[in-house]
Amino acid sequence: MRIIDQIYINGEFTTPHGTELADLVNPTTGQLAGQVRLGDVEDARRAIAAAKAAFPSFSRSSIAQRGMYLQRLHDAVLARAGEAAAALMEEYGGPYAGSIGRSQYTAKMFLDVKQVMEAHAFSKTVGKSKVVLEPVGVVGIITPWNSSAWFVANKLATAIAAGCTLVVKPSELSAWQTQILAECLHQAGLPAGVFNIVNGRGDVVGAELSAHPDINKISFTGSTLVGKTIARTAVDTMKRVTLELGGKSANLLLDDADFEKAVPMAIQACYMNNGQACIAGSRLLVPASRLEQVRQLAIAAAEAVVVGDPRDPGVSLGPMVTRKQWERVQHYIRTGIEEGAELLTGGSGRPAGLEQGWFVKPTVFAGVTPEMTIAREEIFGPVLSILAYDTEEQAIAMANDTPYGLQAYVSSTDLARANRVAAQLVAGRVHINGVHDDLIAPFGGFKQSGIGREFGPYGLDSYLEPKAILGEAAQYA
Ligand code: NAD
Repeated sequence: MRIIDQIYINGEFTTPHGTELADLVNPTTGQLAGQVRLGDVEDARRAIAAAKAAFPSFSRSSIAQRGMYLQRLHDAVLARAGEAAAALMEEYGGPYAGSIGRSQYTAKMFLDVKQVMEAHAFSKTVGKSKVVLEPVGVVGIITPWNSSAWFVANKLATAIAAGCTLVVKPSELSAWQTQILAECLHQAGLPAGVFNIVNGRGDVVGAELSAHPDINKISFTGSTLVGKTIARTAVDTMKRVTLELGGKSANLLLDDADFEKAVPMAIQACYMNNGQACIAGSRLLVPASRLEQVRQLAIAAAEAVVVGDPRDPGVSLGPMVTRKQWERVQHYIRTGIEEGAELLTGGSGRPAGLEQGWFVKPTVFAGVTPEMTIAREEIFGPVLSILAYDTEEQAIAMANDTPYGLQAYVSSTDLARANRVAAQLVAGRVHINGVHDDLIAPFGGFKQSGIGREFGPYGLDSYLEPKAILGEAAQYA
């Protein structure tokens, strides 16, 4: 049994004032793996006070100093990337290759942010005035469980690059990832109080961060429902908010796409991270004239997916994070059938031989229409909905017919056409012919997928406030 009973405040590990214990269940076995002791409102307030006290000095640190800190953070996080990957696999069933890759990326994030910071114009002339970009203040960081350490690292690195101090409230389901990351961050030797980490419940520690007057900005990644609650609370003290929320991303196959490649890619884009990805391409839009071919290819690709213990490199689909999430996915599969979608493969229940953990059958529905629940709501599991269209205009309208706007995918052998279509999709990122990585380009959503952007210069700007100095200032720039 792993017992995690420390939080990190003002440069040291400390026992929380809160006494509530939360169970940590391994989703692969369904068995209890440990317990985490949760912080409470008093812990949150102590952490906020530490971050507030550290702000005046840290906000005046030089770019060179912060660059040195980011380098040290990178080195410390990279040194334990293997252990961090094991924690992802155990804690939420993150598949082997993705967990290794994401843990390496978690470290790399610090160097990417360092580079962006070094190239950023923190002072410039606009009109006749000097404009300086100042750190926004004390930041509250709230993250989900689907790769918590990675989200924390990105937000923390960017806040530090801006000269902000911060308090992190990670998902209560990610205590082991958090512990490893906190030990690495401690190793890097930043001034006490610059970052603080408080395990705790969302409606306790998260709510306190959202309401506390000494928090100047919230950076949140999680569900649209919770994001709205945070934004409502945050407005009372006019906090800046960056919200990275849910999605129902369209994957649009144009009629000239290479279907033999694009359909297996669509299965991957939907099932990535066990289907528990905000960016999952969960709606596959295909020309009605090619529907039969798509059905055959999708069945073959979904049935080739190996489900099982995520520590096995041959497995690409692990379990759902919790029983609750498993039940939620089962509910959507049943709803798809009840509303008349055609189940091509998969369906309700567990895959044969995997009766212990929270495993779901790789599922594909065809005959899905835009008003069906499975075409509209974020499922967060390996369930692909195939919708047929007649014309390109109709396909674009269907892709945009969603309250979300996080990502979209387009496949075509005609790149000019793919780009024309991409220009008409209402999404923060559009991937052409594949699923691509870029941790410098902006990431975030249109519509109810969020507010603001992360990564690169746009992400850094969101932790900075422009201050214009008018009159005789420009000559002192
Ligand atoms: P969640 O919204 O339930 O929880 C996210 C975090 O918010 C957790 O730390 C939780 O404790 C906290 N929280 C809960 N209630 C709160 C409250 N009242 N006040 C403050 N904080 C509170 O999300 P989840 O189940 O952990 O993650 C899955 C969701 O996250 C999905 O909707 C997914 O699309 C989204 N997500 C978005 C992105 C993105 O970058 N856009 C990335 C990953 C996940």
